[in-house]
Amino acid sequence: MAEVLVFVDHVDGVVRKPTLELLTLARRVGEPVAVALGAGAGATAGVLGEHGAVRVLVDEAPEYGEFLVVPKVDALVAACEAVSPVAVLVVSSAEGKEVAARLALRTGSGLLTDVVDVEAGEGGVVVVQSVFAASFTTRSRVVRGGAVVTVKPNSAPVEPVAAAGEVVGLEVSFSPGASGTRVTGREARESTGRPELTEAAIVVSGGRGVNGAENFALIEALADSLGAAVGASRAAVDAGWYPHSAQVGQTGKSVSPQLYIASGISGAIQHRAGMQTSKTIVAINKDAEAPIFDLVDYGVVGDLFQVVPQLTDEIKARKG
Ligand code: FAD
Repeated sequence: MAEVLVFVDHVDGVVRKPTLELLTLARRVGEPVAVALGAGAGATAGVLGEHGAVRVLVDEAPEYGEFLVVPKVDALVAACEAVSPVAVLVVSSAEGKEVAARLALRTGSGLLTDVVDVEAGEGGVVVVQSVFAASFTTRSRVVRGGAVVTVKPNSAPVEPVAAAGEVVGLEVSFSPGASGTRVTGREARESTGRPELTEAAIVVSGGRGVNGAENFALIEALADSLGAAVGASRAAVDAGWYPHSAQVGQTGKSVSPQLYIASGISGAIQHRAGMQTSKTIVAINKDAEAPIFDLVDYGVVGDLFQVVPQLTDEIKARKG
């Protein structure tokens, strides 16, 4: 059976959810073989095996933490030589896309980014992408070389499936470029206690209609009632009401949660580009003509200062 490489995103051996989603997609195409690198990589094998990885190729060399992406690319090249995979799946993060692009170049493979679905098909793998600010859905496949595919978080469910998860050491010889960019310091970001925006299953966003930094407490309260991440439009971010790291859209982050709630956001094309692939979209806006209502599953025409607190209270009450 064809094998599919899955590049593991983990923090000190704790596997992040988007990697488990990749394993679900990989199983549709072949047998998943995971590649885990850096400190704690060996510790990922248990959970990867519980989600379908037949083998876990592990290298815990310090280079993966000391330098930026090139050592990881070297390791994936070595893994491709060891496995001859039909596809390599990588999480569509900024780092994941850089790793994938470099890997495709080094292995003469085709690159497909920001994919939202993967299935077996002609030539091995057929992918679905949502393009032009999600106005079109395309199906593509690579016609030369293997396929390197980056997949957006929340594109597939996490499905536990027992597999061997056998740990195999990966021999990697680092290229001259591997030590080109050294990490000189690391600072932990202050935790909000909320999920990471790009990985969250639910995102609650506020826009210009929130009308002030202090009013974002309403958006945060709704988010917390749902266990959601908080996002913002560029207008809200540029006004200094919320951090730039929370901006959703063309020049911000791209999110694809199960549920996206937009409050006081008009739905400009640049905002839609970052959230339109969300599974269910809800908007609260006092203007019934706001363009956001063209793409919603549920729309509430009303003042967010009345609607959002009521919604938060109702969710809390139903949760008991
Ligand atoms: P507005 O368009 O001003 O909409 C505010 C909405 O709030 C209105 O619809 C109004 O009816 C509603 N409202 C007001 N008061 C209330 C209330 N009390 N209750 C309910 N509703 C209320 N934007 C992004 O978001 N992300 C990007 O990444 C991004 N990138 C860009 C890149 C470029 C190159 C350019 C040119 C623009 C970009 N923009 C981006 C900006 C984008 O064009 C819009 O200006 C921006 O998205 C508008 O934000 P908004 O919807 O919060 O504000």
